[in-house]
Amino acid sequence: MTLNIEFDLRVEGEALAEPFLDRYELEQMFDNTRRSIGAGLRRKFADIVCEEHAQAPKFIISGVYDNAIEELDIQYHVDTCCQRFLLRVMQVLNQRA
Ligand SMILES: [Zn+2]
Repeated sequence: MTLNIEFDLRVEGEALAEPFLDRYELEQMFDNTRRSIGAGLRRKFADIVCEEHAQAPKFIISGVYDNAIEELDIQYHVDTCCQRFLLRVMQVLNQRA
């Protein structure tokens, strides 16, 4: 089963006069973020489906790069068929790679 992963990465705030990352580098960082988080999730969840409903989890990864502090804040949102499987998914998510 293919894992459903959506990314919503964006930039907020006005760029500093001499930003640490220019637009191109920001795009690259977003690409790398998509790739590494996607690969990590696919590895962790390769064989994990709900025992009761045979559904895979769905992930929505949102990331906001704040121009003012030059940091990327990533949040994971998980959709599952049921509460029980959500707990299982959270458990797997929190395991070290
Ligand atoms: Zn379920």
